[in-house]
Amino acid sequence: MSSLDQQVAIVTGGAQGIGRKIAEGLAGEGARVVVADLKAADDAASSLGGTAVACDVSDQQACERMAQAAIDAYGRIDILVNNAGIWSSLVATPFEQLSAEDWRRVLDVNVIGMFLATRAVAPFMREAKRGRIINLASGTPYKGVPFFMHYVASKGAVIAMTRVMAKELGGDNILVNTIAPGFTLSDGVLANQTQVDQLQDVSAKARVLVRDQYPEDIVGAVLFFAGERSSFITGQSLVVDGGAFFN
Ligand code: NAD
Repeated sequence: MSSLDQQVAIVTGGAQGIGRKIAEGLAGEGARVVVADLKAADDAASSLGGTAVACDVSDQQACERMAQAAIDAYGRIDILVNNAGIWSSLVATPFEQLSAEDWRRVLDVNVIGMFLATRAVAPFMREAKRGRIINLASGTPYKGVPFFMHYVASKGAVIAMTRVMAKELGGDNILVNTIAPGFTLSDGVLANQTQVDQLQDVSAKARVLVRDQYPEDIVGAVLFFAGERSSFITGQSLVVDGGAFFN
């Protein structure tokens, strides 16, 4: 028997990149996975034997449909991985040149989208008196990475929101933790050559473990927070970046 047999997991932004590897990792441990994404995710979902749901996490009704689709398909939701986020399309920009519109676009998905997805799933977890929520932040708020102030702020908010969610949901045995990856060569990042040129080498050299980071490097932490071995850990943030930052 695998460690997540009979459990149902939703992975937002699971069509590609880090989210896709997380979805594969959860399915590999026996979970039934709902892949929720802006992009068509049928391909990702069917390769896992899971279900695809079209969902923009910044849209409240779409998040509610996402949660209901998981219930309709499998009758329960045990795990929510809030992975959908805007990062790989961003261009390094001094903060004085960022517009309020740039900020809103990032906060809408990375902060409000995480709130909406969690709010849609929480009633089902509360009713079941169990659940795991795993939020994808980033190492950038710890380091104060320059030229991405809106993104860094959004991921700082994720760390703060995790603590609030952990306190509000803990009474119903719902555990909430954050994973903060370093610069990762995801599908989205690899499609943005400027970002690769600016951040790949400098990120690798800043690590104790001097190499590139891949989506697969994040999966073990997700399985830990999703599984029984972390059953007394909540409200925490785990930096997964090969030792670039010590929390
Ligand atoms: P990616 O660009 O490769 O993939 C992102 C996926 O999310 C895509 O499938 C996209 O369609 C989906 N998505 C985007 N907006 C969405 C929305 N509004 N609703 C639903 N789905 C949406 O991304 P990635 O690099 O794998 O990053 C995944 C997560 O990890 C993000 O939250 C990102 O901020 C975080 N992260 C990434 C890195 C990195 O360097 N790649 C580092 C730290 C944290």
